[in-house]
Amino acid sequence: MQGKKKYQEKLFLNFQLSSAVPEDNFYRRLNQIIDFSFLYKATNKYYGSEGQRSIDPVVFMKLMLVGYLENCNSDRRIIAISKLRLDILLFIGYDIDEELPWHSTLSRTRQLYGEEVFMDLFKLVLKQCIDKGMVSGKRQAVDGVFVKANASLDNMISNDILADAETYGKELEENDQGEKTVIKLETPPNSTQKQKPANKTHYNRNDPEAKLSVKPGKATALNYLGQVSVDTFCHTITHIQAFTADLRDSDCLSEVVQHLKDNFQGTGLEVEEIIADTGYSSGKALQYLEDNNIKGYIPNHSQFVYRRDGFTYSKEGDYYECINNKHLTYRGTYLAGKYYNKEYRIDRGECKTCPFKETCSAYGKHASRITDTVDRPYYERMHLRMKSPEARTIMRQRQSTVEPVIGTLVNFLGMKRVNTIGRSQANKCVTMAAIAYNLKKLLKHSSERANDRLKHAIPCPITRYTLFFKLLVRSNQTTI
Ligand code: SF4
Repeated sequence: MQGKKKYQEKLFLNFQLSSAVPEDNFYRRLNQIIDFSFLYKATNKYYGSEGQRSIDPVVFMKLMLVGYLENCNSDRRIIAISKLRLDILLFIGYDIDEELPWHSTLSRTRQLYGEEVFMDLFKLVLKQCIDKGMVSGKRQAVDGVFVKANASLDNMISNDILADAETYGKELEENDQGEKTVIKLETPPNSTQKQKPANKTHYNRNDPEAKLSVKPGKATALNYLGQVSVDTFCHTITHIQAFTADLRDSDCLSEVVQHLKDNFQGTGLEVEEIIADTGYSSGKALQYLEDNNIKGYIPNHSQFVYRRDGFTYSKEGDYYECINNKHLTYRGTYLAGKYYNKEYRIDRGECKTCPFKETCSAYGKHASRITDTVDRPYYERMHLRMKSPEARTIMRQRQSTVEPVIGTLVNFLGMKRVNTIGRSQANKCVTMAAIAYNLKKLLKHSSERANDRLKHAIPCPITRYTLFFKLLVRSNQTTI
């Protein structure tokens, strides 16, 4: 007989939240593994002794975590999801009939707390990962990722407008003091022609720290630059930080390594090797690694020329000798863009009769010249290191370590874009995404360990039978 379910709502229910959530539920296990109570002390300084009670710091942090674990970076949606999920309600300590905090409380509290509160939680989770043997510390793979800013390209305004506004403000002040001046705002030439926005000439009205950047094959966007460091042993995130997107990866390396060291302080772990891609290649970055006794595996950028065809360098005399046995001597060090270059030159008169001048790469209009980076020794050492077979294996390891981690953060843990304004707030967002990643990894690691223990303790019937059979065969063999 066909059944038909009828729903009749009960006025009173006898319901216990903890009995409705299974013991092996992710959030339930998460509650058992992490003690968030340190947050009361860490956030105490942000509150006064009187007034309305704030949101519980532990509830706030747990709701933030829920947002990243559920890949949702809207505060409104975090509350909506939490209302409908029994396991999340149990995780944050709210009963089904209790009113959840208002969504704007989340963004206000996030702004209120300093970056160090989020970093403390990151370090706490990382410490647990280290205690569980998930981090070796020795080899770290570093990479950068653009995180979309909460700003629109339509809101870009020119820096000139700001300068005009300042002049206008000053002139207004002067007028208030009684001096009558005629205010004349000059219209820029070609004002009808729209200037293409760039970081030097424009900024975003809502988020001035969001910078224009472009990924190969993608459209220009306003982004932040997230720097992620991953331990190659178990793919645990050991550091994450948001920078403004106008910086290059190489500019961020020294700060990332310094924070990595801080994160490992007191754990007995030490960073010995850094693996990164060509974007991290710069004289300053390589020098920093060498000064700190860290072995870098970073392919040199394409502008660096290890050997110039037709020229040999003499270290003793600091000159280049060309194929025509002429010397290009050192003439000075000049700043080119952000970097210092050494210049080697020979007068054009000496090259006039040279039979190789058509093919000579140094031959120029006024003189034949070669420019060379002042950091050549660092690049040369790196070039030789990268030629070794060990380096090839290590670079393959980089690809399989940090890139999948970044993919997970962007696609599944809410790091595609930030819903906040400013670099400091963006840093809190990327830190929370990394905490969510490490927590997932920690729980998976713990359950795998538990399963392993279980398997060894109580072998399944098939394993038991196989073991018995093997023993039987062995005993028969010995008797024969
Ligand atoms: S052109 Fe000048 S620098 Fe070049 S190979 Fe001839 S002599 Fe040497």
